[in-house]
Amino acid sequence: MSKSFNNLSFSEKNISVNTSSNESSICPNCETGVMTIFYEIKEIPVHSVLLMPTRERALGYPRRDLKLGFCPDCGFISNTVFDPSVHEYSMACEESQGFSPTFNTFARSLAERWIQQYQLRGRTVLEIGCGKGEFLALLVEMGMAEGIGIDPAFIPERLDSPVASRLRFIQALYGERHTHLSADVVCCRHTLEHISPTSEFMRTVRRTIGDKKDTLLLFELPDVHRVLREAAFWDIYYEHCSYFTTGSLARLFRKHGFDLLELELEYDGQYIVIAGCPSNDGGQLPLDVEADLDDIANAVADFPERFRDLRESWISRLNWMQSQGKRVVMWGGGSKAVSFITTLGLNDQIDFVVDINPHKHGKFVPGSGHAVRNPEDLRDFNPDCVILMNPVYQEEVRKMLESMRLTPQILAV
Ligand SMILES: [Zn+2]
Repeated sequence: MSKSFNNLSFSEKNISVNTSSNESSICPNCETGVMTIFYEIKEIPVHSVLLMPTRERALGYPRRDLKLGFCPDCGFISNTVFDPSVHEYSMACEESQGFSPTFNTFARSLAERWIQQYQLRGRTVLEIGCGKGEFLALLVEMGMAEGIGIDPAFIPERLDSPVASRLRFIQALYGERHTHLSADVVCCRHTLEHISPTSEFMRTVRRTIGDKKDTLLLFELPDVHRVLREAAFWDIYYEHCSYFTTGSLARLFRKHGFDLLELELEYDGQYIVIAGCPSNDGGQLPLDVEADLDDIANAVADFPERFRDLRESWISRLNWMQSQGKRVVMWGGGSKAVSFITTLGLNDQIDFVVDINPHKHGKFVPGSGHAVRNPEDLRDFNPDCVILMNPVYQEEVRKMLESMRLTPQILAV
């Protein structure tokens, strides 16, 4: 294996923080604030959930820049140079986390809680961005009457559910032409972060609801406050153009005439869960967790230095392991891995990536071209170190490794 270190210069020239650019753009969330750029990565793969069939295609994958801007008025963060036209959300999109027992347990308990708390048995649900339809099926299996799912990446053959006859899927991007659809609940999980004009999106959702004032909105998406605090740069990637905190999400809901029924952080503090309904008088007082503007502004100001320190420490640690001939793999072939590898400019420091999702095996990571393999392959490979892309899976991964009689060092990001 070659031991090249020249990736360092690659990553140096591709990253800048505290950009003193004069460019300004209006916040797409509150539609009044002016965004300030604070983090920039050049030429990252435009997709990080779309794995490639060959190494060549992975290496030649289209790239674009990411420039994160912060809106001091509403606390929203977004990629100000996001180009939605490069995306190909299609059937090849392997975004499903449904193969992880940890994630499945979380989704199941969330569905259970929502159904109980909001008395959803016998009601109908519309899920915007339903992915492969697992969560929608779960809601109906747990007692909801029927569900409509919208997602261009839905694959009919992949859904195996006893309630299939009560589910309907539309393979498309949600938009104006879907405002005639009617349901008691509008659910939207891990989707809003992929949408750039967030205010426009909520306007469309509001039109879909129309005068059905008892409609319930249930959303779930990543929390960026933790990403900023921990300088978790692997959680910043091209598909995610919109980054919310509890406060900026609440402000978006309120701007479009929704009251809040809940606003929580779940999944080890990684995800925001929000429930809302059309407001009758707009008179609901803000919740305590909405007052986060000063905290977010401080976290944004501190991010560049935190990021630089963390990036340098990972690079020197990985280069050291490489120089010692250590065998290093990454666990998790999703967006976090792609962003981690791309932002650090890694090449031979990582031997390959493993993932428990069998649909990813034999494919390649866009940008870097690392192979994605079955964790079973680790039996023979006997890694010295496993870099775990999500600490929430630590126990699950440790057990799997132990069952293969492997005891590598596990470094969780
Ligand atoms: Zn704003």
